[in-house]
Formats: sequence, structure tokens, C-alpha cells
Amino acid sequence: MTQFSQLGLADPLQRAIAAAGYATPTPIQADVIPALLNGRDVLGLAQTGTGKTAAFVLPILHEIHRTKRQAPGKTCTALILAPTRELAAQIAESVRTYGRDTRPALALVVGGVKAGGQVRAMARGVDVLVATPGRLLDLAQSGAIRLHQTTTVVLDEADQMLDLGFMPSIRKIMAMLPRERRTVLLSATLPKPIRALAQDFLTDPVEIAVAPVSTPADRIAQRVLHLPRADKREALISLLSEPDVRRAIVFTRTQRGADRVAKQMGAAGLKASAIHGDKSQGQRERALAGFKSGALPVLIATDIAARGIDVDDVSHVINFELPNVPESYVHRIGRTARAGKSGVAITLCGEDESALLRDIERLIGRRIEAEGEPVDGPQVKRPARKPRRGAPGKTQGGGQAGPSGGRARRRRSRRPSGAQRPPKAA
Ligand code: AMP
Repeated sequence: MTQFSQLGLADPLQRAIAAAGYATPTPIQADVIPALLNGRDVLGLAQTGTGKTAAFVLPILHEIHRTKRQAPGKTCTALILAPTRELAAQIAESVRTYGRDTRPALALVVGGVKAGGQVRAMARGVDVLVATPGRLLDLAQSGAIRLHQTTTVVLDEADQMLDLGFMPSIRKIMAMLPRERRTVLLSATLPKPIRALAQDFLTDPVEIAVAPVSTPADRIAQRVLHLPRADKREALISLLSEPDVRRAIVFTRTQRGADRVAKQMGAAGLKASAIHGDKSQGQRERALAGFKSGALPVLIATDIAARGIDVDDVSHVINFELPNVPESYVHRIGRTARAGKSGVAITLCGEDESALLRDIERLIGRRIEAEGEPVDGPQVKRPARKPRRGAPGKTQGGGQAGPSGGRARRRRSRRPSGAQRPPKAA
């Protein structure tokens, strides 16, 4: 097994890795770190929980430490693009963690807050800029940020950026970068527009795939409770009151549903906050901080808002409502059992959701242990789906999505066969 000491990272980075408590590199780290240190581009099929952030942050910090290059005013040496403010903030946090001894100049440029502070932060030039595409493009077009000195660019969760409509902005941003650069593109799926992006902006990339999306981590105990929709509220209250539920994320399909459930749990005396795209930045940050510190044991989230919630110690994921895109189930339950821990995923399946459950079981390739009998009523509407072409199926399974278990595989072909993009989540 590869050790961090074999990867050739600078000493202060190895100290930071040891301080973070990591014993060995995850498979994606073992593959991506040497590739980037050798100046290669990388195309990675990987989702969160694989250790992908450190896989690109460590080589970036290594290069900045090695060259001791000072970024001129308004420029950045490395640019990391992420789909949401939360994910961007989390990546910035990782840069701080791994850069605790190399102390890179870091800026975060995201929407939803005033731009003044971000413009000032950029004025002197930074080593690492973490940004969401919309705000970055605004500031680049106004001249507050210049990208002609950027030598490394990372597109993280590219399929999410596509889903959120950022592709035109990304293409404009890529056109501002110098030709001589390292480019990393990471995505949980490779729909056509992402493969086209890779084709247009990556040069002879090393291709890496880790733990396909249809393989839920083996460390997650999954259970379904069949019950009438009207009984879900009581069931959730009693589940959340169990003593082993230390930190739980409850998923709803809609923002309104998240607010309603948060209110109901509050009325039952349980500490819970909703997090979704309609909440202000301040509200989201407070909820996340409370959840991380343990002061807020229950977070009620929609699928999109939950992306980038990077908390290692989530004991339970509860699906108050089933997602109408089966891939979202895999993303949801992957919020627990991270960093080598185990976790529990409980799904409350109403009479109108049994078809959604069947879709999920088909995707993950097995039946989920159930309590109660399914009662079929009129079903929740499912989005029309195209047939899945080349999607990773259960035959590729067996790996775990967590940092210790993901299986990396280098592909020989230049263009991996792409998984179909799931329809946009609610
Ligand atoms: P990511 O896939 O980047 O979202 O990382 C998932 C989680 O794995 C984060 O909480 C990291 O702190 C953790 N992690 C990253 N690298 C390692 C490693 N080599 N060993 C153990 N945990 C890790």
C-alpha cells in the first residue's frame, strides 16, 4: 500500500497530513497526487467521501511551496471552482488545514455576499483562490481578478456545476486562463457536456475512477420503514429521539418540505434546522456551524443543499421522503459512514413512494431490508428518464465510497464511457 511519505510531498505538508490524522492515502490520492506532481492533467470520476479534496489541494500547495512564487496583484496561482458556496467554503477550510505550515495566501470568492471584501482580498494577489463560477466571472469581467497567471485550475463536482447552469460561465473562465497550466476535472458522473469540457480543456489527462455512484458504502446499515404518509411525522420524532442518533441529516424532496419538517421537529422539542437554497448565507452558515459543533444534532436538507456538507460524524441519514432521482439516494446515504466510520440510513416509504423505492433498489442492485408491508397508492410523479448508457452497474460494485475503501482504477482509453446524467434533483 502506498504511504504518504512515498508521494514526494514537501515536509510541512506531510506534517499537516499527520496532524489531520490520516494514516495512508486514499486510492484517489495515491493516483492523483503523483500525476499532478508530474505536471499531468487529471480527469477523475469521483464523488465526495473519497478524499478527493486533499488529492488536488496537496499537490497545489506543494507546488506553491516549492516555487515560492508570489502571485502579482489581482491574480491567483491556483484556482479551484466549486458548484456551491458551502463546498467552496469547505475546500477553503481544507486548504487551511493542509496549509497550516506552508501558510498559502487564500481567498474565497462566492455569490450571496457582498463583493467588496473579496475584491480587497484579491488586490494583493493570492496563492489559492476558491470560487463559485458566477461570482468569479463577474469579478474577472470587471477586472478585479485576472486569471492570466494561473498555473493550476481544478473543476470540482463538474456535473453539479452543469446542473446548476454554470457551464457557459465555466467555458468563459477557462478561456481566460493561460494555455500552459495543469487542469483537474472531477465529477461524480460524466454526462456528454462534461466529457466535451474535458475534451476541450484537458491535455492527455490521467484518467481515474473511484467507487462508482451505484455502490453504496458497505458500512451503512440500510433500512426501509413502510408506513402511511400521514404517520411519517410521528415516526421521525420517535426515530430522532433514540439515544444512538447523535447527528442526523433528514432529507426532504422540497425546500418547503424541509421547512415544514424543521418546524414540526421544533414543536416536538427536538433541535433541528432546515438548510436549503432559499435560506440566506448567514442562516446556512449558522445551521452548518451548529451541526458541526454538535449543538444542533439534526439538519433537515434538500438534495442540492446537502452537497458539500462535509461532516465526518453523521450517525444517521433519514429519508423523510424518497428522492425522485435514484442516484440521489446514494449521495444522501453517503453522508454517513464517512472517514472509515459506520452509519445508519433509514428510509420512510409512504404509500405513494414504492415505485421510487423500486428504482433505487434497481440502481443499487439489491433489496433494502424492510419493516412493514408496502402499500401501493397513487405514486409520486417520477421524472422521465432516458435509458442509462454505460452507467456504472452493480457488477463494478463491491468497493466502498469511504476514504479507506474506494477502489481506484486507471482507465486505458482516453475517453471513459460516461454515466448518464441524472435529471435535476428537486
Ligand atoms: P472528500 O472526498 O475530499 O470530501 O473527503 C472526505 C473525508 O475524508 C474528509 O472528511 C477528509 O477529512 C477525509 N480524508 C481525506 N483524506 C483522508 C485520508 N487519507 N485518510 C483518512 N481520511 C481522509
